[in-house]
Amino acid sequence: MKRSTVQLLFALCGLVIMGSCSAPKNTASKQGKAPLIAPSEIVEKTAPRLDTVVAIKEAVQEQAAANNPAVIDNTLTPEQKAWEMFREGLHKNYDFAAAMHYDVRKPQFVMIHHTSQSSLAQTVRTFQLAHTKVSSHYVIGRDGRVVQMLNDYLRGWHAGRGKWGAITDMNSVSIGIELDNNGREPFPDAQINSLLVLLDTLKTKYSIPQKNFIGHGDFAPGRKDDPNVFFPWQLLAERGFGIWYNPNYLVQPPITFNPIDALKLMGYDLTNQEYAIKAFKRKYIKSDLSGILTEHDKAVLYDLYRKYY
Ligand SMILES: [Zn+2]
Repeated sequence: MKRSTVQLLFALCGLVIMGSCSAPKNTASKQGKAPLIAPSEIVEKTAPRLDTVVAIKEAVQEQAAANNPAVIDNTLTPEQKAWEMFREGLHKNYDFAAAMHYDVRKPQFVMIHHTSQSSLAQTVRTFQLAHTKVSSHYVIGRDGRVVQMLNDYLRGWHAGRGKWGAITDMNSVSIGIELDNNGREPFPDAQINSLLVLLDTLKTKYSIPQKNFIGHGDFAPGRKDDPNVFFPWQLLAERGFGIWYNPNYLVQPPITFNPIDALKLMGYDLTNQEYAIKAFKRKYIKSDLSGILTEHDKAVLYDLYRKYY
């Protein structure tokens, strides 16, 4: 399954490269050595790109079927579905002249969840049922087994409604990781160790900033509370995923320090202040999950503010 997906991606990239390389070649041969080409002429000669996209898509499907005969009988792979959607990015009403230099957009956030389910298998099934309308890029079992369910470059449906800083469509910019957990229990070491390895891979591969490793509960306070209070955010921060305060240097913040502004600066949506404070405390305080900031909580917030913002 994994190997065929990789092969398909290679095929897809190869075809895109072939497609983008062949068009200028034809244009050049017809134009001879003419140094200047009017933009309208370029548009005219590269206009059939929409048809080219269809041809490439069909070729990709053929290639996929050749690599994996099961594809013919089963539904399309996520990559093939994405290829269908890809066509919608070309607007028929505009002239088209293909640019030479591009690659794919990369994820810039990682969002961590707990599944609130009883097993890895149950979560995998949930993400394969049509009516659930949810998905995640990775699911990690209690024993540390990692199952990838979506290509990193595809948009998973894990974040839903919420806000973090100015970002509302978190699905478009993030990778979702689900941890098998019933919602009320600690996370076993094997599971966290696998998570740390995965986070390290993603951070390096996509240059994801340290502050952009967040929980679902950070993004959707009041609506979501995962990962639960047992999640080891401090350990993650020590490895460079997310942020943490220094308990040995907590000081009373100056009178000019506004904790609500600091929460907003961190990314929290303050539409409902109580929900935002609860989300902050679930992550950083843990012993008291009320919607009120104590002097200690304000000192923690001030330390984070000084260190990272
Ligand atoms: Zn979640």
